[in-house]
Amino acid sequence: MNVLDCIVIGGGPAGLSASLTLGRARRTIALFDDKTNRNRVTQEAHGFITRDGIKPQELKELGLKELVNYPSITYVQATVIEIIKNQSNDRFIVKASNNQEYVAEKIILAYGIQEEFSLPSIREFYGKSLFSCPYCDGWEQRDKPLAVIAEKEEHALHLAQLIYNWSRDLVVLTNGVPLSEEGAATLQKRKIKVRSEAIKNLIGKDGYLQKIEFVTGETIIRSGGFVAPSYYRPNQFAEKLGCELHENGKVITDGVGRTTQKNIYIAGETEKSKPTSLLISAAKGNKAAVSVNTDLTMERF
Ligand SMILES: Cc1cc2nc3c(=O)[nH]c(=O)nc-3n(C[C@H](O)[C@H](O)[C@H](O)COP(=O)(O)OP(=O)(O)OC[C@H]3O[C@@H](n4cnc5c(N)ncnc54)[C@H](O)[C@@H]3O)c2cc1C
Repeated sequence: MNVLDCIVIGGGPAGLSASLTLGRARRTIALFDDKTNRNRVTQEAHGFITRDGIKPQELKELGLKELVNYPSITYVQATVIEIIKNQSNDRFIVKASNNQEYVAEKIILAYGIQEEFSLPSIREFYGKSLFSCPYCDGWEQRDKPLAVIAEKEEHALHLAQLIYNWSRDLVVLTNGVPLSEEGAATLQKRKIKVRSEAIKNLIGKDGYLQKIEFVTGETIIRSGGFVAPSYYRPNQFAEKLGCELHENGKVITDGVGRTTQKNIYIAGETEKSKPTSLLISAAKGNKAAVSVNTDLTMERF
């Protein structure tokens, strides 16, 4: 079987950028993607210089189109389901949903993260009128009647303080969890309303929020807002392959993508299991690819 220099798992900005760098370095690689990037729900991506307002799918297609220029790159639209390390030769066997197996000397894990919401109905509005990142979507929500929905006080305060810069018509909803006196006073200082009743329902049409209904039956009008999801890695490849983690769940690296397992590199949001941005993920992909190329060069020179 053909042994590739590297397999990249995940074709978000991290994986696309890593692939581009490796393709330009004449490395043979396969890039896998199954189009489950978490920003697929949003209409426009912002803040990526020269691409402000682009549709996430278009950004991915532009990235893939650039890879076609480099003949040593193979793009595989499939889900990676298993990665096995062959202990006898240190190579990785990658099994994918297309029933094919691929072998590589090195792998870059760039499969991103996913979010979980305390209120499942947030999903219906997420990416259209409810968002998690004000730097990504605050501008479009400016001066609108907004909600901040967060059960944890630190999240509620942090989001409210940030969002206040984009809209002063703000209600903080803690969904049945009372704020401390100190927390309430912080928001009161700016006349930000707080509602701590449990939320019964989010009401709207086609992903656009109109009202929020409490268990008491009362409703308030809000056209959108910001939420504080929790995040997790959709795959456990890093853990299963023995990459060491910090206590907070972050994968331990040397700062430029090398994990504690030889030949396993990591890039993008999956490293810290925390949200960042398109630009930061792309930069991390570039860094990890440079590490892969440096190591291949030194091992073979
Ligand atoms: C609603 C919303 C709006 C956002 N808006 C912005 C914005 O305006 N500006 C901005 O900078 N950022 C924005 N973001 C954040 C941005 O999407 C992320 O920071 C960025 O996509 C992370 O890049 P990544 O490459 O690490 O992961 P991802 O982009 O999530 O890419 C990971 C890729 O891995 C693939 N994958 C996962 N598992 C497998 C597997 N087993 N096999 C094969 N492929 C797999 C997925 O298909 C996915 O394409 C937004 C996020 C959301 C949710």
